[in-house]
Amino acid sequence: MRLKKLILLSLSILLIYSLSYSTNVIIIAVDTLRADHLGCYGYPRNTSPNIDQFAKDGVKFIHCYTPSPLTTPAFASMLSSLSPHKHGAKRNGMSIFNRTKILPQYLKNHGYYSGAFISNYTLKKDLTRLNRGFDTYTEVLDKKRWLNLFLSEGDAKDVSKKASKWLYHNSKRKFFLWVHYTSPHEPYVYHKQFDKGYEEVDASVYPERSHFKKIRKYDTEIGYDDHYIGQLINKIKELGLYDDSLIIFMADHGESFGEHNYFTHGRKLYNSSLHVPLVVKLPANKNANAVVERNVSLLDIAPTILSQLEIPTPDDMEGEDLFNPKSEERVFYFEAYKGAVDSNRGEVFHLKVSPIRYGLLKGNIKLIYDKEYEAYDIEKDQFESHNIYKNPDSEMAVLAGMLTEFISNVKDFIEYSKKYYKQKSKLTKEEIEKLKSLGYIKK
Ligand SMILES: [Zn+2]
Repeated sequence: MRLKKLILLSLSILLIYSLSYSTNVIIIAVDTLRADHLGCYGYPRNTSPNIDQFAKDGVKFIHCYTPSPLTTPAFASMLSSLSPHKHGAKRNGMSIFNRTKILPQYLKNHGYYSGAFISNYTLKKDLTRLNRGFDTYTEVLDKKRWLNLFLSEGDAKDVSKKASKWLYHNSKRKFFLWVHYTSPHEPYVYHKQFDKGYEEVDASVYPERSHFKKIRKYDTEIGYDDHYIGQLINKIKELGLYDDSLIIFMADHGESFGEHNYFTHGRKLYNSSLHVPLVVKLPANKNANAVVERNVSLLDIAPTILSQLEIPTPDDMEGEDLFNPKSEERVFYFEAYKGAVDSNRGEVFHLKVSPIRYGLLKGNIKLIYDKEYEAYDIEKDQFESHNIYKNPDSEMAVLAGMLTEFISNVKDFIEYSKKYYKQKSKLTKEEIEKLKSLGYIKK
């Protein structure tokens, strides 16, 4: 009898231990952040001291790409590990399909409590449905963008403050937290405090850029977010959560400063907007300061989190565990759409939204289809200025065949989803007006 009691006692201790021991997960995301403007990615200016410090505790992926260089599709891909045409939120103002499942839903099945803090109007839950599975989804929209009269953006200071409060209240739970900052998104505001002697951008480093004033402002916006990200990280440390947590730092897309005569992001598939930072700090800072050079994708974030938590990865997820790559020879596909949906033409209109450009990356060869093919060796030609597609050799023909097949698959999938899928399609007049006035329609 006594032995039975002892066994029961040991079992319950074991159960309590297994329930209480868990890895918390935090994603810190900065909107519109070029990887090459961070100190830890080699930028010559000291734009990001706090992010750089954090990166030393993590594994840095120096060649990470977004599947689509626009806010809503990129974050929906991060949370679902599906390409934009597969999750449905293809343009800003569009929601994920009713059937699309995202990370917090999978985590909820394993007892995780999830919270999100977003600071860009386009990520509002009424537009995107990206609140699916989150227990709290806080829209920090307390700042005006451009000369608009309405609040459409969250200040980094408020984002950190609110997220820190959430952490304080939920630090005893098993949690997943996504914190989103948006300062580097245009319009760029100049922050004197973060302008640390920014003379002209070094023309030898960025030969194609002649918009130094813009870049200078943009860089101070990075400094501004970095400062408040530092505060958030301090809070994580203060609460004793830092060491055991899985913390991911990333951006949804970059920003173009005149490369290929294009500014901002969204519609083109050059690396100025596709290349993003990705740092993964593992529990106990395992593999701290390691650098991974192979190509990876934002699609890999959800499978990596699930795998770290020993939760099975759903078969339909397209990405792979960053720490357990299946092969070195991966092919990455890209889709670009117009900015935001511009009208209220109903569900069929939403379902048939199609890419305006397609791309592919294999090794160091990037192929873009924009009415015709263009190809670049991104290792030798960082700015993608020498099209090597002319007179394609057989290897290039194989890649072109792969991209043609992808385009055809996307078109078939869109036809299929038109028939069988559902998604939120009714935008209010106010939402359309707001998206228009934010500049997403014109871009
Ligand atoms: Zn964005």
